[in-house]
This record gives sequence, C-alpha cells and structure tokens, in this order.
Amino acid sequence: MGEDEEGEEYLFKVVIIGDSAVGKSNLLSRYARNEFNAHSKATIGVEFQTQSMEIDGKEVKAQIWDTAGQERFRAVTSAYYRGAVGALVVYDISRRTTFESVARWLQELSTHSDTTVARMLVGNKCDLESIRSVSVEEGKALAEEEGLFFMETSALDSTNVKTAFEIVTKEIYDNVS
Ligand code: GDP
Ligand code: MG
Repeated sequence: MGEDEEGEEYLFKVVIIGDSAVGKSNLLSRYARNEFNAHSKATIGVEFQTQSMEIDGKEVKAQIWDTAGQERFRAVTSAYYRGAVGALVVYDISRRTTFESVARWLQELSTHSDTTVARMLVGNKCDLESIRSVSVEEGKALAEEEGLFFMETSALDSTNVKTAFEIVTKEIYDNVS
C-alpha cells in the first residue's frame, strides 16, 4: 500500500490454494481474462494477475497468485504465501479427496501467515452436478466450522467466479480500513 496525488492506493495479495486439478488456474484466468482452458497444463500460467475493483469510490487492486503447479509436488513455498492477506481455498465438488484436503491447506495457510487473512472456501466445478460427490451442505458446514466464506463456482460456465474474488477483496479492504 502507498499513497499518491490521487489519494490512497490499495494493493492486496491473494493466493489460490488447493489440490492439483481443482481448477485454480482456470478460476484465475476466468476472472482476470475471461478465459477457460479445457486442457490446461500445470506448467502453463503466470505467477500472478492483477485485477482492480472499486470499493467506496476507491480503486482496489487484488494481486492474485497462482501456484503454477507446485502443489503437485507438495512444495508450495513460503514465498508463495508471504504477504498474503486473502486466500481462496479450492476443492472440486466432483472429487471428494480434494474436499478432504481442505483442512491441510488451511493448516498450511495459517502456518505461513502472520496477519488476518480473508479466506473463502470455494467448491469449484459446480457445473458437474451429475457427478457431484460433495454436497453444498457439507461445503457450507465446513466453512462455518472454520469461519470461512463459502461459495460454489464454475470456471467453465463462470458461475460466481467474479463474486468469489470480489467478496474476498472486499473483506480484505474492510479488514484494513
Ligand atoms: P489447477 O491444477 O487447480 O490449476 O486446475 P486447472 O485450472 O488446471 O484445471 C484442471 C482441469 O479441470 C482442467 O482440465 C480444466 O479444464 C478443468 N476445470 C477447471 N475448472 C473447471 C470447472 O469449473 N468445471 C469443469 N467442468 N472443469 C473445470
Ligand atoms: Mg494450476
């Protein structure tokens, strides 16, 4: 955060975490570029994308980080988490094991953060209703238990993607202002 002639500036680091192939990279590309890739490779992807939104008449920027596949090797580095004030913890509603991993990701996040982090639990791929293996109620219950926001999204059909990122950004803004 800094200050310029036009007034205050807000720049917040947000990280996306969760098991491999839950749709982290596609959530980011959908939000930042309105793009979806059906065959996205873990190695393709940028470190972060910056998106702006307006809150209280101020420009608020979220610098959103993607793991670029590190999570496959259980080696998301502390540099990735450093300075993060927001996090999307993502699972895939069609793969139960990814939901069971959420606790571990939350633990990892808290180990690496020394400030309040605005956290949202994200059940992605809600377009895959026919092969759903985690109910909406289970997602909600876990989020309540852990004190997280909760939303089901689809990077494929865009459901709630923008909303999820904006709720987290708004919460960060409320935390610091
Ligand atoms: P990451 O490893 O968590 O970054 O996951 P990716 O974004 O690379 O996505 C993994 C796979 O899931 C890719 O084949 C995507 O096309 C697919 N995918 C991602 N989001 C969705 C979604 O919302 N719905 C569906 N049906 N597939 C998705
Ligand atoms: Mg990825």
